[in-house]
Parts: sequence; C-alpha cells; structure tokens
Amino acid sequence: MSSLDELYRQVILDHYRNPRRRGTLSGPHVHAEGLNPSCGDEFAIDLQVEDGVITDARIQGQGCSISQASGSMMTDVVVDKTISEARDLTATFKLMMGIDEGEDPLDPERPGAVLGDLEALQGVRKFPVRIKCANLPWTTLTDALDEAEG
Ligand code: ZN
Repeated sequence: MSSLDELYRQVILDHYRNPRRRGTLSGPHVHAEGLNPSCGDEFAIDLQVEDGVITDARIQGQGCSISQASGSMMTDVVVDKTISEARDLTATFKLMMGIDEGEDPLDPERPGAVLGDLEALQGVRKFPVRIKCANLPWTTLTDALDEAEG
C-alpha cells in the first residue's frame, strides 16, 4: 500500500468513526432517505435551506465504512453552499468515481472542483461494487435538493 493510499484510508476511517453532523434537524427542513440494497447501506439527510443556501445539515444512517464516510465528507462540504454549488459538487464527485464520464473532475477551473477529504474516496473507483456505497449519500442529497426546490 502506498503512503497516499494509507493516508486516504485514515481519512475514510476517521469520518466513519467520527461522522460529522450526525443527528436530525428540529427546525424547518427537507428530508430524504436512500438505500443501497447490494451492501445494506442506509443513509438519510436533513437539510435546512434558506434563500437557496444550505444553512445546516444533519445525517443519519448505518452501513459500511465507505457509505458512511462518504456521507460525512459530503455533508462537511455542502453546508454553506448554494443548491447550485451542491449540484456542481455532486457532478464532480460522480466524475471522480467514474459514474459519469466527461471532463477532468479535479480541473481547478471547473465549478465544484474542490472536494477536500472526498478525494480520499477516489481509490474506491477500482471496486465497482463499492462505488454504489460511496454514491448513496449523493443520490440521497440530490433527492433532498429536488425537494428543497420543488
Ligand atoms: Zn456499502
């Protein structure tokens, strides 16, 4: 294992063991839930959206380290972003994981190019079964954003 792989593994385990923003929102919020049957992962998110900006978020769920770490990292980056910026980040993530094909996801000129800790998940694209785990929080986020705009 290279030192970069080891660093990425540490980042994933840290988010898995200490998930950020775990819990529920009590004020007005939208809620979405997702399931990855192939692994048994569950993920749910509460978003507080004001004037098109995600002002707060909380996550719930259980499952493998990849699914839960991806959700923790995702929630870290989308708070204080606009809905549009959150959708750009989602597009970047899907490019990075090879779910969608197209431009270089980490090209600094792209909107939403900065993924922070999420870059630790790029090794997962070598394992197609685990890509669904990493993607679960993002499909759930998209449902929540659709509801916030709907
Ligand atoms: Zn999983």
